[in-house]
Amino acid sequence: MEKIDIKSLQLSGLNEYVESIGAKHFVAKQIYTWLHEKNVDSFDDMTNLSKALRQRLKDDCNITKLSIRKKQVSVDGTIKYLYQLEDGNCVETVLMRYEHGNSICVSCQVGCRMGCTFCASTQHGKVRDLTASEILEQLYHTEKDIGERVSNIVMMGIGEPLDNFNNAISFIKIISSPEGKNISQRNISLSTCGIVPRIYDLARLKLGITLSISLHATTTEKRKVTMPITNRYSVEELLQACRDYTKTTGRRISFEYSMIKGVNDTDEDAQRLSQLLKGMISHVNLIPINPVDGSPYTQSDDKVIRAFQKKLLNLHVNATIRRRLGQDISAACGQLRNENR
Ligand code: SAH
Repeated sequence: MEKIDIKSLQLSGLNEYVESIGAKHFVAKQIYTWLHEKNVDSFDDMTNLSKALRQRLKDDCNITKLSIRKKQVSVDGTIKYLYQLEDGNCVETVLMRYEHGNSICVSCQVGCRMGCTFCASTQHGKVRDLTASEILEQLYHTEKDIGERVSNIVMMGIGEPLDNFNNAISFIKIISSPEGKNISQRNISLSTCGIVPRIYDLARLKLGITLSISLHATTTEKRKVTMPITNRYSVEELLQACRDYTKTTGRRISFEYSMIKGVNDTDEDAQRLSQLLKGMISHVNLIPINPVDGSPYTQSDDKVIRAFQKKLLNLHVNATIRRRLGQDISAACGQLRNENR
């Protein structure tokens, strides 16, 4: 029988399991704390459990572990990890250092099937979803490696979190649980290319996280060229889902807009963007597009990006230009891949 992936269980699931083996119910909380707060790697380290129970856990369950296949440190202090999963697949994780604390960018899938033409993560399609424990371990292992706490999480690495909905949600619930790392949902951002029905599902959960939408274009026709998901859901449907999301959750939405020379950086684009966002509480993050092998796009000039921002601000759209971290080690947005190169 396949072993239980114990680190992917929320406390309620662990309670059920503990009950099913006839152990006392408080044991579930003890195990959960060992796994998610103290981050032990073996049942033998769970010293307040009886020997018999530890043996039972060993027989029934597996504790997911990752290993560092490669680690690169940028001149700006950013660290990029290539983590190897237990089945040999690899994903990348990026640790960014800011004055307000450490921020981690986690991957949700091995590869990606969304096919955005400017992004390296999708060039070879999707291999598989990550389990909640594999997403959690990217943070736990990184904290151990640097000997410091991580306070902010962005789900902006490889893969599409809303295409791995249940595991992404379990990850958020576990990482923000008081018995685990207790990271505030306010400090967690989830980024999506815009799978509209899943945005409605997410809204219903009323989480305190920040939803980020990778918009990158201002008309459905233009967006279809770079983001194939637009063949399924138009820009208008996406924006309606965003409005409804804010209505249900009360949370402001963040829009990512990568600036591509001659593609989406004109005055008319700024004008249309402001129209699209009219009446919304939103924030636009302008990201100079990062170079990716095999992609035909180049960054808009700095002065074009600044003018675009100014135009948005004049139109009362809250817009900032994102700082580029880790470019020298290909750890910037859209540069992550699941290969070992
Ligand atoms: N699939 C999710 C999560 C990936 S997040 C999503 O699409 O949002 C990664 C962010 O980087 C997304 O906003 C993505 O559109 C952006 N991105 C991808 N390739 C990029 C590139 N070459 N330069 C800048 N940003 C890029």
